[in-house]
Parts: sequence; structure tokens; C-alpha cells
Amino acid sequence: MLEIKNLHVKLEEEDKAILKGVDLTVEAGKVHAIMGPNGSGKSTLSYVLSGRDGYEVTDGSAELLGEDLLELEPEERAAAGLFLAFQYPIEIPGVGNMTFLRTAVNAQRKARGQEEMSSADFLKEIRAKAKELKIDADMLKRPVNVGFSGGEKKRNEILQMAMLAPKMCILDETDSGLDVDAMKLVADGVNALRDEGRGFLVITHYQRLLDHIKPDVVHIMSEGRIIKTGGPELALEVENEGYAHLKAEEA
Ligand code: ADP
Ligand code: MG
Ligand code: MG
Repeated sequence: MLEIKNLHVKLEEEDKAILKGVDLTVEAGKVHAIMGPNGSGKSTLSYVLSGRDGYEVTDGSAELLGEDLLELEPEERAAAGLFLAFQYPIEIPGVGNMTFLRTAVNAQRKARGQEEMSSADFLKEIRAKAKELKIDADMLKRPVNVGFSGGEKKRNEILQMAMLAPKMCILDETDSGLDVDAMKLVADGVNALRDEGRGFLVITHYQRLLDHIKPDVVHIMSEGRIIKTGGPELALEVENEGYAHLKAEEA
């Protein structure tokens, strides 16, 4: 599904290398988790994959279903099936949440040569999905994320993901700022989307999210590289022994 090879990334504005040779393959149907200390490059990886400005790829490759991601515009990456749930969702004053979602869904359908969704079908689907995530009708009418609590913004990211039904889902610290109940809602939303044809990359600082979204593979990122890969037990090892222990082990 997603194949990243020897990815090196630096900031465009300064000569600062952030990713220093990331290798990662996410298979369809699998959930991979990336854990790592703050500043290790986890968000940068998700930004570079989704096409955010300001970064320069100096070496390596990233493919989605065999297609060179790095050549595509952000919207083309989305149309190809990539989705990023932001660590810090932005507010978009003046743009209604429901209008935003409907425009996104239809733009994606158009890019794929599908017909627009009818208003009735869209409403039915968004209401059902919002209900599962305990997002009330009022939040659908308000401008995107404006005045939403931290937890509401994160649930809104999952609503977007559910509506767009991407092939490759990247979640960047979706658990941060969530209380246990909200985290369970988010995890249920993600688990409902788990599918043989879909891959997940779940970035998290803490192990607790992985109690609810059981990963198949866990990677540890440190200083711009993946320093260790293992099964779910690796997340527990980090929880018990910390990242410093793993870095020392690598050294
Ligand atoms: P993580 O998500 O693992 O906490 P980030 O990818 O956010 O890490 O950051 C990795 C490193 O790159 C950090 O040292 C951060 O300060 C730096 N960095 C990322 N983006 C920028 C930027 N636009 N300008 C300056 N430094 C940046
Ligand atoms: Mg961080
Ligand atoms: Mg981050």
C-alpha cells in the first residue's frame, strides 16, 4: 500500500536535515504504529507524504499503490487515496463543516471519475457517521473546527476520514488532548474502518492508544530514522523503559 525507501528530507528554508533515511512499508489491511520522542520527525514524515510545502526531499522515494507520491500535488495524493488526520487541526472560519466535507467528498469522487453524491445520500451518511462519533448536528453546521474543543477537533478529523474512505490513513497523534472516553470513540471510529484494502499509519507518543487500536507492527522513530521495528510488545517496552533505553541499545 505505502512504500517508503531511504527517505531523506530537509527544510527548504534552512540546511536542516529532519528525516535521515526512513524505510517503511505498510501493507494493505495492516495497522502500523510509529512511536518516538518529541522532535524525532514523525509529523514531518506525515507532512512530506501528504505534500505540505516547506520541505525538500533530498533522497529516497515514497509510493502509494506503486504510484510516486512525491510527484503529486496534495489534492492528487488525496484523490489517490491518502488521508492525513492532523496533529493540530486548523480552524477555517466562514466555511461550514458540512459544506467543507461535501465539497471534499465530491471533489474526490470527481477526481476518480465518479458521479457527485446526492444531497440526500450525503446527509444520510454524514448523520450516521457523526452519530457514531458523538458529533452533534450543531457541530456539523458550525465553521470547520471553529470553537471546537481539542477532543471535538480530533473527532472531526476521524469524521472526515470516515466520509472520504481513504486507502491509506495516517493519524498524527490523534490521541493527544483526548480524555479516555473521547479516545475510545476515536479508536472505535478507526477500528470500524479497518479493512483488508486499507492501510493505517498511527503516529502516537503514548502506548495507551494502542490498547484500543491494536497495531500489527510498531516502529520506533528517533532523530529522523526508524531505529527499531517489532510487534505490539515493542510499545509496552517503550512504555516501561522509555526511549532513551532504545537509543542506547541502538548505539
Ligand atoms: P515530532 O512530530 O516527532 O514531534 P516533528 O516532525 O514535528 O517531530 O519535528 C522534527 C524536527 O524538525 C524538530 O526538531 C522540529 O523542530 C523540526 N522542524 C520541523 N518542521 C520545521 C519547520 N517548519 N521549521 C523549523 N523546524 C522544523
Ligand atoms: Mg511533536
Ligand atoms: Mg508531531
